[in-house]
Amino acid sequence: MHKLLNRIVKRYLQDESLVEHNPKLFFAISEAFVAHEQDQYMLDRTLKLTSSELNEINSSLHSKLEENESAKAQVEEALARQQAVLDTIPEAVCSVRPDGALSLVNKSALALIELDQDELFALSPKEMLNHWLKKLVDPNSFINDLKKVNDQFRLQLNGYLELKNGKFYEFFSLAEELESKYLGRVWCFRDVTVTKQSEDKLRHQAFHDPLTGLPNRLLLIESITHALEVAKRYEMQLAVMFIDLDDFKKINDTAGHDVGDQYLIEVSAKINASLRTGDILGRLGGDEFLVFLEGSKDQREFIYVKERILKLLNEPIIINTVAYTVTCSIGLSIYPNDGAEADELIRKADMAMYHAKKNGKNTFSYFNPKLEKIALHRFSIDSQLRESIKNKDFFLVYQPKVDLQTQSIIGVEALIRWRNSDGQVVFPDKFIQIAEEIGLIHQITQWVIQSACEKLVEWRGTALENCNIAVNISALDFNEDSFTNFVESTIRRYAVDANCLEFELTESVFLGESKYTKSAMHFFKKIGIVLSIDDFGSGFSSFSYLNEFNIDCLKIDRSFISNISLGSRSFAIVKSITDVAKNLGIKVVAEGVETKEELAVIESVHCDFCQGYFFSKALNEQDLFNFVKCYNT
Ligand code: C2E
Ligand code: CA
Ligand code: CA
Repeated sequence: MHKLLNRIVKRYLQDESLVEHNPKLFFAISEAFVAHEQDQYMLDRTLKLTSSELNEINSSLHSKLEENESAKAQVEEALARQQAVLDTIPEAVCSVRPDGALSLVNKSALALIELDQDELFALSPKEMLNHWLKKLVDPNSFINDLKKVNDQFRLQLNGYLELKNGKFYEFFSLAEELESKYLGRVWCFRDVTVTKQSEDKLRHQAFHDPLTGLPNRLLLIESITHALEVAKRYEMQLAVMFIDLDDFKKINDTAGHDVGDQYLIEVSAKINASLRTGDILGRLGGDEFLVFLEGSKDQREFIYVKERILKLLNEPIIINTVAYTVTCSIGLSIYPNDGAEADELIRKADMAMYHAKKNGKNTFSYFNPKLEKIALHRFSIDSQLRESIKNKDFFLVYQPKVDLQTQSIIGVEALIRWRNSDGQVVFPDKFIQIAEEIGLIHQITQWVIQSACEKLVEWRGTALENCNIAVNISALDFNEDSFTNFVESTIRRYAVDANCLEFELTESVFLGESKYTKSAMHFFKKIGIVLSIDDFGSGFSSFSYLNEFNIDCLKIDRSFISNISLGSRSFAIVKSITDVAKNLGIKVVAEGVETKEELAVIESVHCDFCQGYFFSKALNEQDLFNFVKCYNT
């Protein structure tokens, strides 16, 4: 029996037999006691256990809370540091939640949108977007970008924005994700105004002429090519006008390059102002301009424009109170007649301009296929001539000059001949001008002077001992500073007497007077070279420079000698030239005397010397020897 039951029985039951008589009852009660005791025990134990677990959990929660707080502090610290870092960078950075609200913004971003933090965060996402869009030059393109990222949230965006305040920004935008959960989008805007401006400047420089600011050849070709596409579609005509100023060099040479530059600036502004909208004026370089006239159905429109330009250039431009007038020559090529490509149209307009120039300048010419033939011919001469300069495929012939008083040969004029690659002899009127245009004349002149010096040496002690040699000098030779040095060193090298050498100069030497002309002329005079004016009377025939440069001799142009007769107009001219020259102490040569009648007239006006087919054509060296021998005996 359970101990507690036993004690209870002993204390409260006097008759213990009750227990014996009811064993089952007391057994059951005893069992109940045992069961109760066991339950109690279990309950106690459970209570004990729970409270210790609770303690444990409690303390673990405590420490977790502490951990969390320190983590929170760390996160806050990290966020503050991140914000500080973001605030120091020049790029504007902001982070936008999926609903359009801002979650982060740095100082540069606040500066970019020109709001402070409180003002910004007081705006709704929609207001914020509108505020931003108002600043953009092209808000629609940014709205399109936003649509794109709405459709594909992972899209990485990169682009450029122009703000109404003139600034340019490059932007990048990336999705913010955490374990593939979309958190929003970060935007970064970088100010690229300076780079953009310098890029624009470089691009402008690449496509514009620095002096006048006009489009250059590259941009013109681009514009013409583009306009040609449009013209083809609408069956329109286009015109390309090549403008070259006539004798512009004169301004540079006489007034200096600054005035020349100023003239170019003003003349281009003047031409530009006279054009229709859509027509483009460009500068190809130097004094060459190109006007490209937009599509038209009527060619007459092109004609009006060129008439206007020609007229404009006949009006003077005043620079520093001095009036300068420089006319121009214009060549015109038209699409579709003359070509379908920009290059081709420019080339043909150039040929037409060249033709206009040859027709006496201050005029205009259309392109026509004949001009192309002439240009092709020039081109082939050009390349052959370059080759011949290297191979020295030239030779000299000599035309005697006769002293009318003594009837003796006083000298010869050396005239150049070119043996071309086909072995044909080419006369100077077919190649000298081209050589001048392509810059080969200096080498030709040098070859002639050197060959003349060689002959002066070789002829010593022969029948040609006292024969002077005259050489033809191009006006362009005076453009080179080195010309005088070359002449001096060649004379010294061959040890020839400079008096035996004569330079025949045309009046164009004085017309386009280069800055070296004066000093070169004085130098040649000083060292004793005989100076003659060739083709006198055919140019502007001024006597002023005869005195200034101490000219020795005048060669009256053949056009006055041909068919000259007593009392004719030519006679009057030749006589007055001779009279004036005599008074100035200058000798006179009559050129191109072919008949004895002409000779008689020439003798009557007392010309000093005579040259022409009547006496002799230009001869090779051997024939010259024979001629001199015969003539002098
Ligand atoms: P230019 O200096 O007036 O030379 C005279 C030209 O007239 C020569 O022609 C000569 O042969 C020609 N001539 C001479 N007498 C008569 C005549 O009685 N009747 C006719 N109808 N013609 C006559 P060419 O040799 O053909 O020379 C032509 C031009 O070429 C020269 O004219 C000169 O301006 C230039 N030239 C010739 N040689 C040279 C040179 O070495 N250098 C340069 N720069 N030019 C040259
Ligand atoms: Ca000559
Ligand atoms: Ca001549």
